[in-house]
Amino acid sequence: MDGPGAARAWETGQAMTSLPMIPVDPDAAAARRASLPPRHLADLDLAGRQALLAEIGEPAFRARQISTHYFGRLVRDPALMTDLPAAARERLTGTLLPRLLNPVRELACDDGATRKALWRLHDGSLVESVLMGYQDRVTVCISSQAGCGMACPFCATGQAGLTRNLSTAEIVDQAVYLAGVAASGVVAGSPARLSHVVFMGMGEPLANYSRVVAAIRRLTAPAPEGLGLSQRHITVSTVGLVPAIRRLASEDLSVTLALSLHAPDDELRDELVPVNQRWKVAEVLDAAWDYAARTGRRVSIEYAMIRDVNDQPWRADLLGRLLAGRLAHVNLIPLNPTPGSRWDASPKPVEREFVRRLRAAGVSTTVRDTRGREIDGACGQLAAAEGEKDGATA
Ligand code: SAH
Repeated sequence: MDGPGAARAWETGQAMTSLPMIPVDPDAAAARRASLPPRHLADLDLAGRQALLAEIGEPAFRARQISTHYFGRLVRDPALMTDLPAAARERLTGTLLPRLLNPVRELACDDGATRKALWRLHDGSLVESVLMGYQDRVTVCISSQAGCGMACPFCATGQAGLTRNLSTAEIVDQAVYLAGVAASGVVAGSPARLSHVVFMGMGEPLANYSRVVAAIRRLTAPAPEGLGLSQRHITVSTVGLVPAIRRLASEDLSVTLALSLHAPDDELRDELVPVNQRWKVAEVLDAAWDYAARTGRRVSIEYAMIRDVNDQPWRADLLGRLLAGRLAHVNLIPLNPTPGSRWDASPKPVEREFVRRLRAAGVSTTVRDTRGREIDGACGQLAAAEGEKDGATA
């Protein structure tokens, strides 16, 4: 079971270059910086925006005014900011609101309750975000990198490798855009206000650490500084970069940590989540329990159910023993087979037995719904190169 993607990325060191705290080739680092987009107000806190306007000789109060449009009213189009003096509007919005996300297409399914947006970034990179409307909440699933360097062989994004980190504003703007979609009322039967954000789109959020943390601060600061979401309604999902989990625990943020475990034993996890070759199951769970202790937040253990790979009763029992008595919840995800994959989702009876054994061990367990399958917007299916190909022929 050597995932071809995993072996390739590991041997060439691609996955290594995207891990934190490992010295990287300075030229590669420069190339990544060079491809970052222009600065945008969501990259800065309010004081930073005010300072930037002062630099170009504009009154600082305009920063609050434009921020209120963007974060408070979800208006992203400078043409609609008619309270800005016409003469200065272009200069102001050119400085604070450069266009970061160019929509390539939007798709909807589940009667409009699930919507996927495909974006082209300033350098041609493609990323995707997904909005999911429920009766009691609206969740958006956003990307933190263009591509991903973690090379998990069952994940569509992992197959393509990492293109680059997204900027803070590129991350935040996905949520602000989709908050605007929700506010327009098109998601029937759901609240109009975005309430939850999950970093479960493309990329490994903790490999783009400082920008992701800044994005969380923007998403949770009250308007007009930020979007005003509750920290408890933000979930950061990770393959398990142990030093970054420990650092996140020290940020004084009460965001939920989701750990993509997918196997309770190192032998299998080394293959399913190649970063396990660096940080083993015991180490990553230790970091997760420390995170739970520091934040008081229950850790979500993500486990994709892959037929005859990780779904055996003995693995359920082993997982149960690892998690019993911990501040944890298991989220089983029926595998979404990626194109050309030799893996499939576990049969329902096998899934039910897995759930039964975990619960018998005293571990709270649910099976995630499979929103967005028809539009390739479901867990692990975000692969923007595919979207581009389809878009060109649509
Ligand atoms: N890099 C982060 C976020 C990625 S996507 C992480 O790995 O956690 C969010 C979740 O979807 C992860 O748990 C990931 O393992 C899971 N996932 C990826 N591909 C999948 C697939 N084909 N089927 C089901 N879940 C998948």
